[in-house]
Amino acid sequence: MTLDGRVAIITGASRGIGLAIAKRFRDAGARVALCARSAEDLTQHAAAMGPDHALAVLMDIRERQSVGEGMRRVIGRFGKVDIVVNNAGISGVTPIDAEDTASWLDIVQTNIVGAYYVTRASLKHMPDRGRVINISSVLGKFGVPGYTAYCTAKTGIIGFTRALALELAPRKITVNALCPGWVATEMAWSGMRDIAAGIGISPEEFREQALSRVPLGEMVEPEEVAELALFLASEAGKNVTAQAISICGGSTQA
Ligand code: NAP
Repeated sequence: MTLDGRVAIITGASRGIGLAIAKRFRDAGARVALCARSAEDLTQHAAAMGPDHALAVLMDIRERQSVGEGMRRVIGRFGKVDIVVNNAGISGVTPIDAEDTASWLDIVQTNIVGAYYVTRASLKHMPDRGRVINISSVLGKFGVPGYTAYCTAKTGIIGFTRALALELAPRKITVNALCPGWVATEMAWSGMRDIAAGIGISPEEFREQALSRVPLGEMVEPEEVAELALFLASEAGKNVTAQAISICGGSTQA
């Protein structure tokens, strides 16, 4: 599966799943724009991939203006966008009766509105036969108590995916969502620490409990998500669109 000649924008590419996707796409021959809010890791990773092939772009996807400025840099350097991966996201426990509403709104703003801004901006520069890949979650397919914001956002992004896929089908642009279960990244570790603290057990005990509910019994590696993203981005995936594909060790059958 090659991405020779293709240009990809990957949001949230300073670590975790986004970084794994950027590396895999780069190895497959794409030129990649790595986007995130903080510069240090982003710049280092882009430099390691080679200045001709990778560009670090500071961008806060919650802000339309920031997305516009970042997109101008990408177009200035690479001239087009063939593939957009809406991966940047935040999570967190948001009990419905919490005094603070800012976290709830921030999770929805980042995961949904951010993907909307980045997709809009990318599509202006996307030739026919392009790709939109949205990173949702298995929490877009089932609920978890205390996670109304994240479940709302990740379910919402599946709706966004389905409608946009039909809208862009005449241009042969495919739009799909990936729905990972537990992936071994900073987000998962901090989620496990929070939940464990909330129920008064250690993070290790919670991890064991969580994985006992996964039929295949293990965490997904970011590189496995990247491999699936590569399939969707490549020519091999040209007839897959409007889907929400789980990679979760069987924790949902939806
Ligand atoms: P992560 O390790 O926490 O990385 C998140 C990335 O998003 C970072 O690069 C972060 O960089 C960036 N980011 C956050 N807010 C941003 C904003 N406003 N603008 C631009 N960039 C922003 O998370 P991950 O585990 O790799 O998760 C990646 C995606 O997979 C997310 O959408 C997440 O919901 C989804 N997912 C993860 C899991 C899991 O178990 N890990 C499971 C299912 C789905 P900065 O902070 O520097 O901006």
